[in-house]
Amino acid sequence: MAIERTLAIIKPDAVADGNVGGIVGMIEASGLRILGMRMVRLTVPQAQAFYAIHAQRPFFEGLVAFMTSGPVVVLALEGEDAVASWRGLMGPTDSTKAGPDTVRGRYGEDVSRNAVHGSDAVQTAAVEIPFFFPTCQLI
Ligand code: UDP
Ligand code: MG
Repeated sequence: MAIERTLAIIKPDAVADGNVGGIVGMIEASGLRILGMRMVRLTVPQAQAFYAIHAQRPFFEGLVAFMTSGPVVVLALEGEDAVASWRGLMGPTDSTKAGPDTVRGRYGEDVSRNAVHGSDAVQTAAVEIPFFFPTCQLI
């Protein structure tokens, strides 16, 4: 076990549906510490850059359209095994397969509109957190 940092995004579907408070509550109840939190509206080039790893996937264009369709809330989180801990709380990518105690099970719709993002590794988090939060701005 180690103290890690991870990036969470509350996606446009969850923001539009008024689920920011519910999701932040689940994050806080889980014991993860919020280091930074901000609402942003991604531009198309920013969303393409953030999801560049998926550029060749068939869902890429739809993903970029979705992620730029409205404001998102970005959070830098810290805690014991924060990457796996937040991924576990999120649930699987396909919301229809997510358990009722997970964020995606509670607030997601399907494999695309799935309420939240989470870094998939410590190394990924180390790139994704500075995408939104200059290190000097984190508590
Ligand atoms: N996505 C999609 N269709 C798919 C797979 C993924 O629209 O078949 C979207 C979905 O919003 C997902 C994001 O692309 O959260 C990134 O996919 P990834 O496989 O990295 O899933 P995640 O890490 O978010 O669980
Ligand atoms: Mg991913």
